[in-house]
Amino acid sequence: MSQVGNRAVVIGGSIAGVFAARVLAESYREVVVVDRDVVLGVREARRGAPHTRHAHGLHARGHLIVEELFPGITDELIEAGIPTGDLGEMRWYFNGRKLKPARTGLISVTAPRPVLEEHVRARVAALPQVVFWQGWDVLGLLSTKDRGRVTGVKLQQGADPETYRELEADVVVDAAGRGSRTPAWLAELGYARPAEERVKVGLAYTTRHYRTRPEMFGGVQSINPVASPAHPRGAFFGQVGRDICILSLTGVLGDYPPTEPGAFLEFVRTLPVPDVYEGVKDAEPLDDPVSFRFPASVRRRYERLAGFPAGLLVMGDAYCSFNPVYGQGMSVAAVEAMTLRRHLRLGAAVESGPFMSDVARVIDTPWDISAGGDLDFPGVEGRRTLKVLVGNAYMARLQYAASKDAKVTDGFMRVAGLMDPPQALMRPAMAWRVLRHALRRPAPGPSWLGTEATA
Ligand SMILES: Cc1cc2nc3c(=O)[nH]c(=O)nc-3n(C[C@H](O)[C@H](O)[C@H](O)COP(=O)(O)OP(=O)(O)OC[C@H]3O[C@@H](n4cnc5c(N)ncnc54)[C@H](O)[C@@H]3O)c2cc1C
Repeated sequence: MSQVGNRAVVIGGSIAGVFAARVLAESYREVVVVDRDVVLGVREARRGAPHTRHAHGLHARGHLIVEELFPGITDELIEAGIPTGDLGEMRWYFNGRKLKPARTGLISVTAPRPVLEEHVRARVAALPQVVFWQGWDVLGLLSTKDRGRVTGVKLQQGADPETYRELEADVVVDAAGRGSRTPAWLAELGYARPAEERVKVGLAYTTRHYRTRPEMFGGVQSINPVASPAHPRGAFFGQVGRDICILSLTGVLGDYPPTEPGAFLEFVRTLPVPDVYEGVKDAEPLDDPVSFRFPASVRRRYERLAGFPAGLLVMGDAYCSFNPVYGQGMSVAAVEAMTLRRHLRLGAAVESGPFMSDVARVIDTPWDISAGGDLDFPGVEGRRTLKVLVGNAYMARLQYAASKDAKVTDGFMRVAGLMDPPQALMRPAMAWRVLRHALRRPAPGPSWLGTEATA
């Protein structure tokens, strides 16, 4: 691999940051990963990444890339007691109806997110080119006098101004997550801020861990009644270790799952299907429920800016943060890292403009899936284009067909796992399977408690 520069600095040592560092190490003499938290060896949610406490599945596409960048990591995770399974053989419910299981060949890794992240990070930290600066907060960017190029970062340890220093770099990658300060730093340098698209979904996850008993899952790896407009309360209930399982409840539009244990269990009881309630009502909890609020998905339109400094790239949630129920963020970060690698392999410094445009293209499809899906909920504000309306009407029929036909489940999982584009679901053979069942599709059924569906 040809070297394109001396030093790369990555802001953020979470999942997008370590993916980026992995590919930058092929082309830079030194890669400095800066995080305000201590990250190495940490296997629990930390201050800078509290969302990582909640259920995280790595989609098929992300898994394939992770295995390509870190050969043997799946076996390493299995060895460490992490369950893996076929995405199509998990117990999925949409609109309160169980999908027909399908052997898709797509592996889903259901490690606790901090554990997955730490396995990846340990591999990256072992690369001779990579160093981690832990407990350092990036305060701003250094630039050339004409502000046309970013030349490094300003940082300090925690809140101690005595530790302030400047670190020069040939390229700075912002992987600082949703709270990224690049929009404000661009303004400081005299550039416009990127336009932001927001889809306000008013989501919250509330999560509790339990000791697994074999009868809880009836032989499947996870049970996932996914929220839909008719049944807006959802859950991800899955095995995440040898005898540990996670239950993340999801509520939208301000219907936040509570943290008080009794009220938490009552929320579980109101899910459209009884499986999760039956699983946990007498189970041994391992902690107290903890909540995380996600007000809106945010897409920053960096690729549309007329001016952007050389030497600065943005990746991961810093660029786009998707509604988490679609489970896309980590896989998108992995695809973006492969995009970065493709640019680096051109053998010269990565040009910000073309790179940011290519990342926007990576984001397009998952954004359409998640933002479009959110607009199916009548209370979510946003413009419902014909494409969104037709897409959501078709998806409801497809999910019903998948409750009858394993081939439809297979196609659906390939798209949800970011392996195939959504257009694959419109191909004639699939459309025929969908429409055949659609004719007999009843309205969404009541929940198991007899409560009527809301749509
Ligand atoms: C509740 C929930 C559930 C989710 N479930 C899934 C799922 O099932 N599957 C999936 O693929 N995705 C899921 N996601 C999305 C996924 O968590 C994100 O896409 C992913 O964390 C993005 O990684 P990142 O590295 O870009 O940012 P983050 O994980 O947010 O990390 C940013 C890092 O930058 C550091 N940092 C920030 N600012 C600075 C600074 N100024 N200086 C130094 N360090 C800094 C922070 O300490 C942190 O370590 C979920 C998200 C949520 C909220």
